[in-house]
Amino acid sequence: MRPALHAEEDVLLVVDPQPTFMALCPDELPVPGAEAVIPVINRILAGPIARAVVTQDWHHPRHLSFASQHPGKRPLETVDLPYGTQVLWPDHGVRATPGAAIHPALDQAKVVMILRKGFRQAIDSYSGFRENDRQTGTGLAEWLRAVGARRLFIAGITRPYCVDWTAEDAAAARFETWVVEDACARLGPDDALDASRARLEAQGIRFTTADTLHGENA
Ligand SMILES: [Zn+2]
Repeated sequence: MRPALHAEEDVLLVVDPQPTFMALCPDELPVPGAEAVIPVINRILAGPIARAVVTQDWHHPRHLSFASQHPGKRPLETVDLPYGTQVLWPDHGVRATPGAAIHPALDQAKVVMILRKGFRQAIDSYSGFRENDRQTGTGLAEWLRAVGARRLFIAGITRPYCVDWTAEDAAAARFETWVVEDACARLGPDDALDASRARLEAQGIRFTTADTLHGENA
C-alpha cells in the first residue's frame, strides 16, 4: 500500500535512535543489528516526508528499570512495581551519557521535536506517549495535534517494546498509525514479534516499508 504523503499532516516518529541500544555500547543494551536502522531511517528522511520527531530514552542513573537496582535480579527478569510487572534491563540510556545521545549519523534536518522519556526514576516509559503506568502522559500527543499532525509513521528501536508500545498509544490517541517495519530493530523471538504485530493490526495499525514511503511523491 502506498499512502500519499502530506507535508503538514504526516510525521515520521523515530523511537530511541541512540548508541546505548547498539553495538557501539556493548555494556549497555545492544540490540542485534540496531545500528542498521539508521541508514534506513535516513533514506525515509531523504524522501517526501517533511517532519520527524525523535524520542530519546533519558534515565536517572539509578532508574528502577535497571536490574542493577534490584539485588539478586538479572536483566530480563521481572519485578512487580506499583504500576505492574516491569522487565529489568541492563543499565542503559543514562541521561547525559554518550550512549544516550542521538546517534550522530541520524539526519536531523527534518527533526522538529526531540522528546525525552523515562526520566522519572520510578517509572519506565517504553512508549513516547505514556509512561509504563499507562497513565502518566508525556505531552507528545498534545504537541503533535498542536502542529497539525494526523498520521504517524513509526520507526526505530525496538520492536516489540518501545516501538510497538508507541504505536499502540499513537492509535489510542487517534492518530492514523503506521509502523515502518524494515526501519525498526527487533529484539526477541519471531513468534513474539508476530504476536505483537497481530495485536497492533487488530487495533487498526498498519505496517509498511521504507521503500514504500520513499517512493511516494508528496
Ligand atoms: Zn529504557
